[in-house]
Amino acid sequence: MNWTSAATRVASLILFAAALGGLYGHPLWAVAGALLGLVVFWLYQMHMVQKWLANPTQPPPETYGIWGDLLSQMYQLQKKGREARAHLQSTIDYLQNSFASMRDGVAIVDDHGILKWYNEPAQELLGLRPEDSGQSLMNLVRAPEFLRYFKRGEFGEPLEYRTAGDSGTWLRLEITRFGDGDRLLFIRDVTASVHMERVRKDFVANVSHELRTPLTVISGYLATFLGDTERLDPRYIKPLEQMLQQSERMENLLKDLLWLSRIESEQGTQRHVPVDICSLLTELQDELRLTQPARRVELDLATDQLIAGDYRELYSAVSNLVLNAIKYSKDDSLVNIRWSRQNGNYTLTVSDQGIGIDARHIPRLTERFYRVEDSRSSATGGTGLGLAIVKHVAATHGARLQIESKLGKGSAFSLIFPAMAQGDAAVRHAKASVA
Ligand code: ADP
Repeated sequence: MNWTSAATRVASLILFAAALGGLYGHPLWAVAGALLGLVVFWLYQMHMVQKWLANPTQPPPETYGIWGDLLSQMYQLQKKGREARAHLQSTIDYLQNSFASMRDGVAIVDDHGILKWYNEPAQELLGLRPEDSGQSLMNLVRAPEFLRYFKRGEFGEPLEYRTAGDSGTWLRLEITRFGDGDRLLFIRDVTASVHMERVRKDFVANVSHELRTPLTVISGYLATFLGDTERLDPRYIKPLEQMLQQSERMENLLKDLLWLSRIESEQGTQRHVPVDICSLLTELQDELRLTQPARRVELDLATDQLIAGDYRELYSAVSNLVLNAIKYSKDDSLVNIRWSRQNGNYTLTVSDQGIGIDARHIPRLTERFYRVEDSRSSATGGTGLGLAIVKHVAATHGARLQIESKLGKGSAFSLIFPAMAQGDAAVRHAKASVA
């Protein structure tokens, strides 16, 4: 019922009462009586509404006029709300059931790190008990890598870590934020694949190691033969030279493979010794003056920031970048190494004005043995492992490798170290300079 028809009804009642009262000579009393009756009727209806509101799940009582409409609208709204809640609850139940039936561990943690929910595999993998819900996850999981990763709050890359104790279990943890700062944890047992990966790395390392000695003997004899060309049949000189060149290439390959497997096997170890990048670059420049005297390598040291890391690994990464810059550019062109602070990070950029790289190759450059063109690398004697080493060293130092290149114009390879991770080294450096 709308407002106008309700008003019309009240007006009709007043007119009717006035007319009826007029017949008996008391129109005002009749109107007053009718209004009083109306008020009593409304009060009763209100009382019914109030009674129903105390327990609105029951169907509403029989009411009339405006109150009847009001009550049925409230009832409809209430019903819709109940249905939406039930739907939501069934969605939550459905999701929880599907998470619960997953073979991977799933856990939900709030923004204070309090465990809100977890399935059975998560309980088993993280070593939780059924009564641990509502406790802080930081007090329940003891592995230091887990605690560091969780506290750092950067979940772009998953974490693989070994659980505390002697079970030798490796877990892979992925965290996603959702809702009001809550976090969804996916935990998977990756012991078998970590084991396989280790077997693969050990195999590569052992084969490389075993091949080194015979290869040294072969290239040693080849070098001896070629040292005495006068007594050699001239027909053999060229083939022997090629054999020596190829065996040297193989030696370089084995050296890179062994180095890569060494730095990989030290994954997880802390690299926190402050490394003075300025003196590292100066040492590299001195070495290049001896090994590449014809090339111009320019140093641009815009900061003297130290980096928490491993000197030998950083040296190998930077020298790989610089040697590539030299290999893939003309003899008279300049190679620049810049160490600077940029956008709050510390950046080491090696740039050249060489042959450059087509954009489609850039995403795959750091794969082992990936070559832009076979002819390029065989001509330069590359092993195809240089950038894989650089990428690995970057990852173990919390840095990012950025590659910018234009075909025919040149390339810039940058190692970007986040300033945050260098706080420790920076403090030590500050102390050292004061002393
Ligand atoms: P390689 O030992 O063959 O140089 P890398 O892993 O160091 O292997 O590099 C992979 C490939 O990336 C190289 O084969 C080369 O084609 C390309 N590349 C690397 N650095 C440069 C550069 N500065 N300029 C042009 N191409 C480059």
